[in-house]
Amino acid sequence: MKTIDDLGDLRGKRVLVRSDFNVPLDGTTITDDGRVRAALPTLTKLVEAGARVVVTAHLGRPKGAPEDKYSLAPVAARLGELLGVPVHLAKDTVGESAKATVAALADGEVALLENIRFDPRETSKDEAERASLAQELAALADAYVSDGFGVVHRKQASVYDIALALPSAVGGLVLKEVEALRKATDDPERPYVVVLGGSKVSDKLGVIANLITKADRLLIGGGMAFTFLAAKGYSVGSSLLEQDQIETVKGYLAQAEQAGVEIVLPTDVVVADSFAADSPHEVVAADAIPDGRMGLDIGPDSSTLFRDKILDAKTVVWNGPAGVFEFEAFSGGTRAVAQALVDAGAAGAFTIVGGGDSAAAVRVLGFDEAGFGHISTGGGASLEFLEGKSLPGIAVLDQENGS
Ligand code: ADP
Ligand code: MG
Repeated sequence: MKTIDDLGDLRGKRVLVRSDFNVPLDGTTITDDGRVRAALPTLTKLVEAGARVVVTAHLGRPKGAPEDKYSLAPVAARLGELLGVPVHLAKDTVGESAKATVAALADGEVALLENIRFDPRETSKDEAERASLAQELAALADAYVSDGFGVVHRKQASVYDIALALPSAVGGLVLKEVEALRKATDDPERPYVVVLGGSKVSDKLGVIANLITKADRLLIGGGMAFTFLAAKGYSVGSSLLEQDQIETVKGYLAQAEQAGVEIVLPTDVVVADSFAADSPHEVVAADAIPDGRMGLDIGPDSSTLFRDKILDAKTVVWNGPAGVFEFEAFSGGTRAVAQALVDAGAAGAFTIVGGGDSAAAVRVLGFDEAGFGHISTGGGASLEFLEGKSLPGIAVLDQENGS
């Protein structure tokens, strides 16, 4: 893979960078700017090299047309503050405003194109449609740098097709992510423990099949745990449940047993009346969840159990909060898992946090990011990496391109 240094002298060159600025917003306020900060080293390097930096990114899920609430304006402002140079926001993605904004850039200046998903071609399944957007993006630049790790598993115009249209290089963030994930997946120091949780249950079940052949121990918390508890025959009340995945999960449990991989499930659960911060709640045994109540966190015994199962690890990958950490009453499990990673790390383990919400949880709950070996900016991408899949946005960088 070519790196930025392989692109040669960039002074005065227009460099298109795909970043991941898909940050959580409350109105127009960024509630966690981790992804913006993660993009800084690459952008700073290009600014200092005297490049004319053109950044493209998406935010949220617009339906292929401009929508004010998905404007990158808050990101442009925050990026400008953090970079210490003005960031010129174009009013469109590849239209007249984008062209004019890029044409007006001086060396070392930065333009941000408006949300690339305002253009339906970005995520089109039709190769020709994506290629036509990629050509318009390519016309705005002399080289391309892929630095949006959160999207490298997507075959999209600004991620994949563009790399076929311009001389391309991998950015520092993607490189760092890939190196960290390779360290955990290629030949992990053992015990290798994976902690899974969160709410995207069906998305994440796929990774388990592969992990059973690789990890020594799988800890299952969060919303995902209830499909496992149901597979063991327990009733789970009104907790998050993927009914149609129960049989698959039964298969995983059997496979794991055969492979000698330990699957650790919660032994107790914090149940609530409803999905609300102030809902009445109590701790019950995992096999005694009352009808009509929903599990929103692993219980205190489970937290201790998970901690013990993490502490002796040499490699830990954590993807998905153990509970609804956004609500104080249900944040105990996630806090315990994060603390166990920090303590395992202090004892010499290599720890990775993957997943947008997991990474946000670490920061929101007040942990020092330096206590973790690596905090990934890409949930889906890091999972697909763990699944052993080839990521299109990375694979394409090894192909011949317009250089
Ligand atoms: P990540 O972004 O880290 O990959 P997900 O997107 O899969 O994680 O899930 C994160 C969300 O899961 C959080 O917003 C959290 O509130 C939610 N969650 C965790 N545990 C539960 C649970 N028991 N029931 C419902 N939602 C849960
Ligand atoms: Mg998420």
